[in-house]
Amino acid sequence: MLGGTFDPVHHGHLRSAVELREMLALDQVHMIPAQLPPHRAVPGVAALDRLEMLKAGIGDTQGLNADDRELRRSGPSYSVDTLASLRAEFGDETRLVMALGVDAFLKLAEWHEPERLFELAHLIVIARPGHAVSPGPALQALIEGREVDDVTRLFATPAGRLLHLRLPSSMDISATELRRRLRAGLSVRYLLPSAVETYIQSSSLYR
Ligand code: ATP
Repeated sequence: MLGGTFDPVHHGHLRSAVELREMLALDQVHMIPAQLPPHRAVPGVAALDRLEMLKAGIGDTQGLNADDRELRRSGPSYSVDTLASLRAEFGDETRLVMALGVDAFLKLAEWHEPERLFELAHLIVIARPGHAVSPGPALQALIEGREVDDVTRLFATPAGRLLHLRLPSSMDISATELRRRLRAGLSVRYLLPSAVETYIQSSSLYR
């Protein structure tokens, strides 16, 4: 699972998903847009548009799918509920992984039922340029004893462990910067897929 606001999806997300799948030999990466992200401002762009951009960005990429399960629930989009739904779908023995960038990881202790996340899945923390890993005391307590340093040890159990990964094509791209560029009428070419740029232009988003 790679959840996010995807406002809009960009090459940092998509290339991370592809490399994550290769490095961990995953069957599928479910990219799941949040309907209502619990810990940030309501996105200016509707969830359905964010989902459509994600579908356009993924195109025919093997092993990546735009998963709309959070759009089918009302209320805040808690990741524990999403993982519980994936767990119910794939069964207790399947190894499930929730991947997130280090910026999101640093706020994990503030999430809804953070301990339960580890009952449902492993956590993969992806390095992002410009974001140091500096967990505070609450986060330290949450991850205590869970860190492993290789994929074999991670996947020895269906859930409960944490692995830090540096992906080969680490990219300094953020949706915040893309929205700023779009508002200012600046180019976003090569920062996101051209199909997403076309969708943004034709739907007059981020003006
Ligand atoms: P914003 O700037 O609006 O916060 P974002 O670019 O961080 O957006 P999100 O949709 O919030 O994008 O991110 C979804 C997930 O993808 C988060 O776990 C985030 O840390 C991760 N992520 C986003 N951009 C990158 C990137 N360039 N490289 C690796 N991971 C990323």
